[in-house]
Amino acid sequence: MGLLKKITDFFTTSVTGSGGTSVYWLYVQCDHCGEKIKARVNLNSDLSIRYGEKNEEDTYFCRKMIIGNERCYRPIEVEMTFDRSKKLLDRQIKGGRIISEETFVAE
Ligand SMILES: [Zn+2]
Repeated sequence: MGLLKKITDFFTTSVTGSGGTSVYWLYVQCDHCGEKIKARVNLNSDLSIRYGEKNEEDTYFCRKMIIGNERCYRPIEVEMTFDRSKKLLDRQIKGGRIISEETFVAE
């Protein structure tokens, strides 16, 4: 009975808690055609660890290829670096640019 309750709690928490903590939303705009694309980065499964050298902190790295589905199909490449607590440290983008959520929603 106690164990079942624990499992249920865990399941509920993992579902409701996934919105803010383990998913990072990326909003980009294609340089070529201007299409705005929203991409999801799963912070639990899309990141690979990079061990720091000497005194450097370990970081997480993620490369994401984003392809729009409306116009030109050109891939946009985004490379992201996160710190140990999975906060974004740096990002590089090729083929497009990062836009804010507000810009993405606005039309
Ligand atoms: Zn495009």
